[in-house]
Amino acid sequence: MNARQEALAQRLHTVRLRMKAACARAGRPTDSVTLVAVTKTVEPEVAADLLMLGVTDFGENRPQELWRKAAVVPTGRWHLIGHLQRNKVDRTLPLATLIHSVDSPRLLDAIEAEAVRQNRGVGVLLEVNCSGEDAKQGFEPDQVPGLVDKILGLKQVRVRGLMTMAALSEDPEKARPAFRRLGTVAETLRKALAGSPHTVDELSMGMSGDFEVAIEEGATLIRLGTTLVGDLPNP
Ligand SMILES: *Cc1c(COP(=O)(O)O)cnc(C)c1O
Repeated sequence: MNARQEALAQRLHTVRLRMKAACARAGRPTDSVTLVAVTKTVEPEVAADLLMLGVTDFGENRPQELWRKAAVVPTGRWHLIGHLQRNKVDRTLPLATLIHSVDSPRLLDAIEAEAVRQNRGVGVLLEVNCSGEDAKQGFEPDQVPGLVDKILGLKQVRVRGLMTMAALSEDPEKARPAFRRLGTVAETLRKALAGSPHTVDELSMGMSGDFEVAIEEGATLIRLGTTLVGDLPNP
């Protein structure tokens, strides 16, 4: 292994231990949380190294970067975790395993229309602004129940859960109320969608600074960038 691969292996080991400990504290099985490696700051070769080390899922916040890196590492499962412009839906659908960042009814309509056109099923998460910050994208928590009728009319799009971003803070405990809020919103939506083809099993929450708190609050997908791929040595 080269120096970069050694560093990645070491960091991955540490992250896996921290995930396992957080799961244990929460009384959850270790395999109930999936690590999504956020590769937005690095070249696709780093994703290829991580794939070799057993990471299966990768996140990009810009659609064009997802297209580019998914072409280099096609056996990875690629997640779109940032804003999706409607004119980029067509090229994203064939490449994205899950779109975490559905933040408006218009985008949901656009994804459905393109998925019907491509005759392709697609899984999505609804992004919810649980931190109360004006600048954050996503639905307000109290807007989510109002989406149920629209969701029940979808033919190719399948809702799989919710995503949130906590406010940045030095103190991970500050993120806990937002994560807990997402769990509450999910519970309500789950009841409203019971018996439909949609599920609300996935909670995408937690980043490098707060993923253990997110796991304690029920995260099933954690999105880690800096702690895995920040400041890597040259290979
Ligand atoms: C960059 C990014 C992450 C990863 O953040 P880190 O703090 O570097 O782990 C997670 N989610 C989204 C939506 C991002 O854009």
